[in-house]
Amino acid sequence: MNFVLHGIAVSAGITIGHAHLVSSARLEAAHYEIAEAAVDTEILRFDAAIARARQELSALESQMTGDAPTEFGAFINLHRMILADSSLSHAPRDLIRERRTNAEWALVQQMEKLVAQFEEIEDPYLRERRQDIEQVVERVLKALAGSDAMPQPPSSAEGDLIVVAHDLSPADMILFKRHKFGGFVTDVGGVTSHTAIVARSLNIPALVGLHHARQMIRENDVVIVDGIQGVLVVDPDPVVLGEYRLRQSQHGLERQKLKRLKSTPSATLDGTPVELFANIELPQDLGDVQEFGAQGVGLFRTEFLFMNRKILPSEEEQFEAYREVAKAMDGRPVVIRTLDLGADKALSESEPVEMPNPALGLRAIRYCLAEPQLFLVQLRAILRATKYGRVKIMLPMLAHAHEIDQSLSLLKQAKQQLDDKGFGYDGAVEVGGMIEVPAAALALPMFMRRLDFLSIGTNDLIQYTLAIDRTDDAVAHLYDPLHPAVLHLIAHTIQAANRGGTPIAVCGEMAGEPTFTRLLLGFGLRNFSMHAQQLLAIKERVLRTNLATAQPLARRILRQSDPAKTRELLAKLNS
Ligand code: PEP
Ligand code: MG
Repeated sequence: MNFVLHGIAVSAGITIGHAHLVSSARLEAAHYEIAEAAVDTEILRFDAAIARARQELSALESQMTGDAPTEFGAFINLHRMILADSSLSHAPRDLIRERRTNAEWALVQQMEKLVAQFEEIEDPYLRERRQDIEQVVERVLKALAGSDAMPQPPSSAEGDLIVVAHDLSPADMILFKRHKFGGFVTDVGGVTSHTAIVARSLNIPALVGLHHARQMIRENDVVIVDGIQGVLVVDPDPVVLGEYRLRQSQHGLERQKLKRLKSTPSATLDGTPVELFANIELPQDLGDVQEFGAQGVGLFRTEFLFMNRKILPSEEEQFEAYREVAKAMDGRPVVIRTLDLGADKALSESEPVEMPNPALGLRAIRYCLAEPQLFLVQLRAILRATKYGRVKIMLPMLAHAHEIDQSLSLLKQAKQQLDDKGFGYDGAVEVGGMIEVPAAALALPMFMRRLDFLSIGTNDLIQYTLAIDRTDDAVAHLYDPLHPAVLHLIAHTIQAANRGGTPIAVCGEMAGEPTFTRLLLGFGLRNFSMHAQQLLAIKERVLRTNLATAQPLARRILRQSDPAKTRELLAKLNS
């Protein structure tokens, strides 16, 4: 059946492929064929993982204290029952034998079958129990991952697969980096959620906020993801398909043409240099950073090193990651942001920390200051990496002067600890902070006095200024970068920092959005940090900007209180 769904485009481009319905557990599972002779061992591996999951549940039960809520015991019982059911504990064994497939894949195939049955159930309580099945399967998958290291051969057909999910967390998205899917669409999510941000970094067309896509689309349906218009076409007729193939190749050609700009120095028409830096999540993003000619790394979101794992990365492991980036950038600046965990970036999907309002809770610098030992490990690792390049430290989500003072004193302590152990580091490492809470933008001198540089995180600044959860598609239409209050805070921050001689950058998504390039240049911004994939499109805008006309128009936009007029003037600025 042919139909169209409208959602929020979070990553541009057009892709055509076959729908692949996933839950987050399925996304993690590798699929590979095993040799006939290895079937029995694979079944043993599967049985051992089931037994281990069972042990874990028993251990959880025995750790339960008398004051634990009764639901907790009921939940363990339910999970134990699911685990004991032959449809989960035995059926995958048959699949392993018959299809000669690895245990993980056999398990998720079976899970999908069960989940599909649950989705048909009318009773909402019972329907919800599919989540319990998924959680149990995730437990077994983790047990499998903890057993023998398994090979992960890439699937050759992945580029043809469009992942269709109800929701994907940033941790799920990071797993995309290991795969080469053609695109992804989800029922929920906001435009600057971290899930969307990672999708953009992968340069795969993506849509969020499609509401019922996961229910309406069947496995293997032909789908078109139009990440430019925010449209998903399911089972298109040949004429529509032909039209989209044409648009897809045009889009590809345009991106190809941009590559010519890679070595062109980034400056406006009147010769004012503009620095274009890259945002990264993991060292593996360095390939794109080099490919698109970034002049530095303006934001290394280190929290992604902490996701999808049971044990936190040690000082040594973190040091290796930071050193790899510092060395690869070969003297160009690398801004390493300290942990920004919390809100939509949970450490563990399976054991989320309950917070009444996570975006306003113990997030980012607040979390690090509450866990000084964990923070010290990271600070030591970053300090040690300073010897291998131009590393700078950046603190996220600052609102109070004492957060900076405490961080600086912990940095001093980390230096002392390294001195005691005889490790070298750059004693004059620069420390900067993110301006992403309105209070910080409004009390800027307090931050400028204490920090060496600033970077505006527009994603959070907009979220906190407009009281819009950036991950919630129900309010995504209210997430407005052009709201006068937002523009005022951004322009004021840039101008005050420029006046005071404090280097200032923007590293939120606005920096990578060509519509806003001239406006930000007009406000006085000269350092933009974005995912490398967006860098050349921004460079093209910079190269075609005349500051003498951009500046007065940007000032006029700032004085506007009528949203329609603001958009009209922005269109004029961009023409
Ligand atoms: C921001 O808030 O704009 C930012 C760059 O940080 P993050 O998106 O990681 O919250
Ligand atoms: Mg932020």
